[in-house]
Amino acid sequence: MLGLMQDAQLLTSQTLAHAAKVYPNVEIATALDGRVVNRSNYAEADKRARRLASSLTKIGLAGDDVFLGALAWNTQRLFEVMHGAPGAGAVLHTANPRLHPEHLAYTINHCGDRAIFIDADCLSLAEEIAPACKRVQHWVLMAEPSQIPKTSLPNVISYEDLIDQGDPEFLWPEFDERRASTICFTSATTGDPKGVLYTHRGTVLNVLTTVARNGWGLGRGDVVLCTAAFFHCNGWGMPYMAPLSGARMVLPGRNLNSRVMLDLIREEGVTHSGGVPTVLIDLLSEAKKDGLGFGNLRQLWTGATAPSEALLQSLEELGPKVIHAFGMTETTQSVTVSIPDPHSSEPARRAEQLTQGQPIFLSDVRAVDEDGRVLPSDGKSVGHLQVRGPAVAAGYYGRPDINPMSEDGWLDTGDIGSVGPEGHMRISDRSKDAIKSGGEWISSVNIENIAAGCPGVAEACCIGVPHPRWQERPLLLIVREPGKDLDEETILSYLDGRIAKWQKPDAIRFVDRLPRNGVGKVVKAQLRKEYQNVLL
Ligand code: ADP
Repeated sequence: MLGLMQDAQLLTSQTLAHAAKVYPNVEIATALDGRVVNRSNYAEADKRARRLASSLTKIGLAGDDVFLGALAWNTQRLFEVMHGAPGAGAVLHTANPRLHPEHLAYTINHCGDRAIFIDADCLSLAEEIAPACKRVQHWVLMAEPSQIPKTSLPNVISYEDLIDQGDPEFLWPEFDERRASTICFTSATTGDPKGVLYTHRGTVLNVLTTVARNGWGLGRGDVVLCTAAFFHCNGWGMPYMAPLSGARMVLPGRNLNSRVMLDLIREEGVTHSGGVPTVLIDLLSEAKKDGLGFGNLRQLWTGATAPSEALLQSLEELGPKVIHAFGMTETTQSVTVSIPDPHSSEPARRAEQLTQGQPIFLSDVRAVDEDGRVLPSDGKSVGHLQVRGPAVAAGYYGRPDINPMSEDGWLDTGDIGSVGPEGHMRISDRSKDAIKSGGEWISSVNIENIAAGCPGVAEACCIGVPHPRWQERPLLLIVREPGKDLDEETILSYLDGRIAKWQKPDAIRFVDRLPRNGVGKVVKAQLRKEYQNVLL
């Protein structure tokens, strides 16, 4: 027998509609180079998103087979597009302006984007790729009609014209919650960009679970600085999570360096923010320079790569609590979060915080061996990590040739690690980065974390390089803190007793910086190539 409850599809448009009704006056601030240039609120943003949806519907760009692209930074206009396009029923492809133009054009053509919303400062990039993007019918410049400069782009429309011509009372249509809402591409750290096609249902369920106390814990009165670009995992869910929770949003635009980030945190009374570990390293050193602290900041969220213990400790000494989470483009956003047991001792709390966390509600994690057999959740058995849940991908858009799923419906993460008795997942490496020395696995992440604690070390990166006897041995690359005179011997003696002797790096090299991709991940493949002969 079916229950007697009303039925409603879970659609992302509900998040903004809810905010407009319940938190109409809560502010959305957009900044440019650290200065707020526009203040609006949820009621206004909802009206503008509805106007946009209505205009898209009128010109035939709201069908469920219509892909619309955006080449833009985190501003209120992109926030409106994140709601207006999927809310109308189209699929929004948040393209990454930091991709190589060739890759970018590939993603646009792969989706078949029919129109692209562009920020004024992405205009020359759009002009460069336009000849290769034949299916794009309209280039929508996110500006007033009077601000549209001379351009070689064909069929340019002013975004504000679209807004003006739309109906602010447009009713969000109801459709199947499994319909595609947005698409993001993987950051291609280990291969070609692959498109992950999110559903309305998965996104709503994911933000509902992550917004709760054992996650971001967001609510009324909180102020979020949305640092994660909306083209990475839907901006870590924030365009939907913030409105549904009633939190105030600060959207930082394009140039988000650590100085800008710190100024916005202090001046806008930001309570919650986040960033990949390199962003937090820079933020910390900026805060240490003037010693004026982090204002109202209570919580920083981090992930994408593992943060070091030293980083967590230094940040928390200055105030904000750090939440470490794990997610992939394939998991909509976070799939595990580390919320340590408040009753744990300090060392146990820190140890828990350093794991990639426990599964969020509705998700699950496991480790399997080479043959796909499930390993015990004992925190020791190391294997291939797999995840599942309603916000986890089941395949890649337009790539039936790649099957990331196990036969029983779990997604392979491409990471190696273990799962503890209470679900704590611990990544020891990406499968492609793990070092195999004489048949034994060495975790590059473990060596990096320990080396990062050595005084004078700003960053540490460990890679496996070919070795005549052991096939592969660890090489440690170190970026020194500015002005620190650190030598190989000091680091090696720091590692003594902290890691097993046979895992100690065979060589150390000092570098000025590490090569990183658009999301701040070290491109280890490039380093492996560069240093391939060091031990031969
Ligand atoms: P790409 O696979 O191209 O890097 P993603 O942005 O989807 O693109 O990255 C997902 C990967 O990032 C994971 O498989 C994992 O290797 C890594 N990752 C994400 N969060 C963490 C974390 N908290 N600690 C360590 N690695 C992480």
